[in-house]
Amino acid sequence: MSDILNVPEIFGSDVFNETTMRQRLPQHIFEAWKSCIATGSQLTLEVANEIAEAMKIWALEKGATHYTHWFQPMTGITAEKHDSFIAPTGDGRVIMEFSGKELVKGESDGSSFPNGGLRATFEARGYTAWDPTSSAFVRDGSLYIPTCFFSYTGESLDKKTPLLRSVDEVSREAVRILRLFGDTETKRVICCVGAEQEYFLLPRDLYAQREDLRLTGRTLFGAQPPKGQELDDHYFGTIRTRVSSFMKDLDEQLWRLGILSKTKHNEGAPCQHELAPIYTDVNTACDDNQMMMSIMKKCAAKHNLVCLLHEKPFAGVNGSGKHNNWSLATDTGKNLFSPGKTPSQNARFLLFLAAFLKGIDEYQDFLRCTVAFAGNDHRLGGGEAPPAIVSVFLGDELNGIIQSIIDGTKYEQEDKGMLRIGVDVMPSIPKDTTDRNRTSPLAFTGNKFEFRMLGSSQSISGPNIALNTIMAEELHQFADRLEQASDFDKELHALICEVFTNHQRIIFSGNGYSDEWKWEAARRGLSNLVSTADALPAYVAPKNIELFTKHGIFTENEMRARHAIHLESYNKIMAIEARTMEDMAMHQILPAAMRYTHSLCEGVAAKKELGASANAESQLIRNLSSSTDALYEHVGKLHNCLAAVPKNAPEVAARYYRNVIVPAMEDVRAEADILEALTDKRYWPYPTYSDLLFY
Ligand code: ADP
Ligand code: MG
Repeated sequence: MSDILNVPEIFGSDVFNETTMRQRLPQHIFEAWKSCIATGSQLTLEVANEIAEAMKIWALEKGATHYTHWFQPMTGITAEKHDSFIAPTGDGRVIMEFSGKELVKGESDGSSFPNGGLRATFEARGYTAWDPTSSAFVRDGSLYIPTCFFSYTGESLDKKTPLLRSVDEVSREAVRILRLFGDTETKRVICCVGAEQEYFLLPRDLYAQREDLRLTGRTLFGAQPPKGQELDDHYFGTIRTRVSSFMKDLDEQLWRLGILSKTKHNEGAPCQHELAPIYTDVNTACDDNQMMMSIMKKCAAKHNLVCLLHEKPFAGVNGSGKHNNWSLATDTGKNLFSPGKTPSQNARFLLFLAAFLKGIDEYQDFLRCTVAFAGNDHRLGGGEAPPAIVSVFLGDELNGIIQSIIDGTKYEQEDKGMLRIGVDVMPSIPKDTTDRNRTSPLAFTGNKFEFRMLGSSQSISGPNIALNTIMAEELHQFADRLEQASDFDKELHALICEVFTNHQRIIFSGNGYSDEWKWEAARRGLSNLVSTADALPAYVAPKNIELFTKHGIFTENEMRARHAIHLESYNKIMAIEARTMEDMAMHQILPAAMRYTHSLCEGVAAKKELGASANAESQLIRNLSSSTDALYEHVGKLHNCLAAVPKNAPEVAARYYRNVIVPAMEDVRAEADILEALTDKRYWPYPTYSDLLFY
């Protein structure tokens, strides 16, 4: 037997994908399924029964004993409940059964998923419905059926349903635009996404010794180690054996599930890594990313490691984000954000670019909301990841083109006179014109936009729902106007010029981390929503509710429910972190420092008896004592602040956490970290930063 992995052979082997369906379904059933997908209509019971039967036989061959409706509730992670295929025959035996009804619809028994008030307790049922556009797969002995999750009254309770709606909306409006450019071929426009995933890996035994990591996913304490990431010796460095065998295992599992895992490397911070898949349609990309995060965690455990997806596990070194590469392409394979090689492509590109810029400018606050949650507050605006201000980086070449269109002047670089929309050929736009601007939250990278504000732990659904819907709205406005135009070319030129002029404030090429940018952004009137508590009110701003209800993505109720869920989750996380901090300070840190102080005191007494000097010990005792006193006081204050969190007013509570609890936590940490530096390592109750990061 050879150890060589035959990747093409195993790739997708655990997925009931189109090829498998074609092989295993009667042709008319396969065709019926295809047409349901194309038209978005419902499967008939006959078709569902046939698919379920074929799926069951296939899954049993793969060793499955159970099936599960796999869904993406508002927790941001996935949920599953497993039912076995067994059905009693009445004579003490069982057969394996799975019907079309069971495939298509399920009932979730729990009312314990966040619903923001959408499910009253008297009707706590939730339903799951197969999304036939995502493939079922087998994992750990279960057949997984990707589903949407909604309430008894039909309101969506998940992250998949609105994403699918947004995909349809942006496709419809984009196709309208393409028709105006004489494209009669394209039937659908597809939103393509590649999500680069960052994560940390730690040894399991060290992780287990830290209550903060176990309960909150990040370190709440920790003095800076003598070495951090200043030598840049981890980024792209050789991958250590233990990690490398984890990655190998992970890739194999992902490939079996048809996930296009492509690039892996060490990231900036010690113990930090990245995995990037090849892009696919956004619905698949979202499912795949959820699956990837879950497999990473399980696979790490197998290798005696722990995978941390938290945005900021360690202070002082980089946090983890998720770069969401987003573009639109026709079903015939044309990328609509590729600068054109012909005059008509040039005009089309500039129009899509204009729509994007206008949309981001008008809905910057909502986009900020989609990445606002407790974990990400440590990154955005923290001087490392993108700032909390949304802006777009286009690069010198495109900036020059836009400026020349606005001014009606020569486009200098190309030295060929003014670039006329729809008449001239666009110069080719190099992928990275200058040094890639790493500080920009939304960068144009040749033929796609890279949205970099996402946190590493979050579902990519929300940000993509927003990008798609914003784009749909702008394209809708453009199509309305251009369809009415008597002179298309003239109107097109006027429209593009007008949009670039009115929305140039959203374009920024400078250093996004600098203080000057904060001033400049304020001067331009851009919003700077520094924290989750600042950002979330925008979620239900009238203009944003109008956008999403107009396009049928959310009802107003659904938006208010989601807003409530996000607030509640922020408040809960803040409370857990504060309580964990108090617990560790009272039960671990203070006792450790006191024990050490006590032993020093005994040493001093013994030394004094011998007439030896004990100056060092005495000074250390004084320092330890003043820090223990201060820490004790700060913990008491945190405790009192926690007792005074405003009740029954989540928005007020969120601001309170941000303005009162966060500073109180910072005080506790600062003092505890001083104590750590003063205390004999043998007394310290948990592994330090240097133990964890340089194991
Ligand atoms: P990097 O950002 O490291 O330079 P790439 O630009 O090659 O890497 O790609 C980063 C991610 O963007 C990958 O997941 C890749 O598949 C994805 N990507 C590439 N082209 C597109 C596109 N047209 N639309 C969406 N995502 C894309
Ligand atoms: Mg990238």
